Amino acid sequence: MKIAINKAHFPVTVLGPGRRIGLWLQGCSIGCKGCVSQDTWARDPGREMTVARLLSWCRQTTGGVFDGVTISGGEPFDQPQALAVLLDALRDWRAAENADFDILCYSGYPLARLQKKHARLLGKLDALIPEPYLDHQPLTHLWRGSANQPLVLLSERGRRRLADYVDAGADSGGKRIQAMVDGERVWYVGIPARGDMAALEAACTERGVAFAQVSWRQ
Ligand code: SF4
Repeated sequence: MKIAINKAHFPVTVLGPGRRIGLWLQGCSIGCKGCVSQDTWARDPGREMTVARLLSWCRQTTGGVFDGVTISGGEPFDQPQALAVLLDALRDWRAAENADFDILCYSGYPLARLQKKHARLLGKLDALIPEPYLDHQPLTHLWRGSANQPLVLLSERGRRRLADYVDAGADSGGKRIQAMVDGERVWYVGIPARGDMAALEAACTERGVAFAQVSWRQ
């Protein structure tokens, strides 16, 4: 089974507790106003890889030592079959190694729709952050971009590991953004506050660093 991937990174420390594998899926049909990940919107067959190869990367990169997996995008539920295969592979890995990592997934779809259309997928997750990003709502809670987005605990492991974060404030986890340099690309991971990316661009421009292409506008 192939899955379209925008990027993968380890360790991610700003999208869930501990040191995590971050997997960003490619393709999003929702189009929230103000989305800062517009580079993930297009469906792109050139970004497909097999789930087996992705799992192999996860194993090699982490050495099996990590706290969780965060799946974001893009819209993970726009690839439901590939997402099911990925979640099964992660769960098989966890069971085979008797590991205790949690699996957290983001979605821009409403919780009620996911419960109706994708109940089986929800049953494979430990936690979910659903609902579209609403630009006019403030950033109030840890790991969430707008106040309408809940942290939904879906398993015993999810409740044990994540219950303390359901009502946690946006800044209670320390830093909100990680920045990475990859060749000539600089990319960030995390939940920026309103205006953060424009302020970053302005500060860089002032210092003579021009952004050729950015993910928060097309
Ligand atoms: S915020 Fe997420 S769901 Fe909304 S348009 Fe951006 S990638 Fe898609």
